[in-house]
Amino acid sequence: MRVAVIGTGYVGLTTGVSLAYLGHEVACVDVDEDKINRLREGELPFYEPLLGEMLAASWPRLAFTTSLPEAARGAEIVFFAVGTPANADGSPNLRYLTAAALETISALRDKSAPTVLVNKSTVPVGTGDLIGEEIRKAGLSHRVSLASNPEFLRQGRAVRDTLYPERIVAGGDEAAVDALERLYADILTQRFPEPAGAPRPAGLNRVPFVKVDRKSAEMSKYAANAFLAMKISFINEIANVCDRVGADVRHVSEVIGLDPRIGPSFLQAGIGYGGSCFPKDTRALQYIADTNGYDFKLLSAVIEVNNAQRSTIVDKAREALRGLGGKSIAVLGLAFKPHTDDLREAPSLWIIDALLREGAEVRVHDPAAADKARGLLPPGVRLAGSAAEALRGADAALLVTEWPEYLELTPDVLKSEMRNPLVIDGRNALSVLEGTDVIYRGIGIGRTAERAAVSK
Ligand code: NAD
Repeated sequence: MRVAVIGTGYVGLTTGVSLAYLGHEVACVDVDEDKINRLREGELPFYEPLLGEMLAASWPRLAFTTSLPEAARGAEIVFFAVGTPANADGSPNLRYLTAAALETISALRDKSAPTVLVNKSTVPVGTGDLIGEEIRKAGLSHRVSLASNPEFLRQGRAVRDTLYPERIVAGGDEAAVDALERLYADILTQRFPEPAGAPRPAGLNRVPFVKVDRKSAEMSKYAANAFLAMKISFINEIANVCDRVGADVRHVSEVIGLDPRIGPSFLQAGIGYGGSCFPKDTRALQYIADTNGYDFKLLSAVIEVNNAQRSTIVDKAREALRGLGGKSIAVLGLAFKPHTDDLREAPSLWIIDALLREGAEVRVHDPAAADKARGLLPPGVRLAGSAAEALRGADAALLVTEWPEYLELTPDVLKSEMRNPLVIDGRNALSVLEGTDVIYRGIGIGRTAERAAVSK
């Protein structure tokens, strides 16, 4: 099918490239000329594993343009995948989506063939109805149909999540939902050759296609993210209690995660969630509930816990070093999670500010986010070219993003590079340090448990 994808960010570009991989003809559109020029040269504008290989494999079926009207007129299906960042009051900023939708509708006025509009951006319940109203006002309801198709991919594994999703959700006009079912047919039946580097999960031969009404589709995206954020804040609260009573949250997570009603994922205690989705989507849902007369107390607590949690790593460093003034601190990892270069709402930026406020000297490293970090880091913070360089002479290392290369740091490297081999593991990811004389502090790993781990 002929597809246009408006927005070439993490979601739009992954969607466009994956659909082209499946055999569709895809025009990827962005207002950012630099992004489009780079894509035309075959260069990715951001870091995302496997996407470069997929781009190369799908190249003949891909076009990149800044002309939305041209792309929309040439497509049977037009996806909106533009950003919906948070406004200061927590409400989602729909400026980009509104602009893209209005420009598309206007471009379709003189097109006679039917067109399906599909919204992938995360939007408040009812946004689809507003777009539907614009279609109606333009007199296009007889040939332009509309659906919501919320996106659940995770950065860092966006290609795999797109090709092997847990479900595809579609809500809206029958014609639009039918078109989506045809478009995604090969994913739904898993009838496509696995790309190198992204093997099909064992046993996957069918993906559920969940047809719901448009509002439920829109709501399900917020509900999913709020639930996952809740799991993270819950285990972080358990971790904070573990710290006070001498229990080890890693063991507690393992035990409760074995209960299928709870499940093991999102139970790793640490410094809390960040990124472009959970913080803004939880605040947006809180705002939506609030403006509809409902006080969503549980969600407010999830957000409050998360905001407080990032200070635990700084508290532990301060306590272990008896103050941070004049101390050299290595921050390992800047991206909000491994395998991405995305710094939106990354806890690292808050942590660096807190360290500087207390008079520490800060050096940082990240294997992928260094370029994006350059303009964002406060003056005086040294961006190191390697983890070893960041560690050199440091009084403490703070593991903020659990990149695999940090998990491979050996006690010998830590001891030889650092002035004081103290590691504070904000992600409870560094099991390799246990049993050595590197001083280890985790989040929610109560002192008794820490001593037990080190003396193993
Ligand atoms: P992004 O910021 O990476 O990309 C958005 C792109 O849209 C940018 O390149 C921007 O230049 C472009 N754009 C803005 N206005 C435009 C217009 N009028 N015409 C053409 N292009 C335009 O955003 P993202 O992370 O890909 O997220 C997109 C949406 O998907 C958001 O609503 C987000 O909440 C949702 N989402 C994101 C993820 C994720 O992991 N990033 C996962 C699921 C859902």
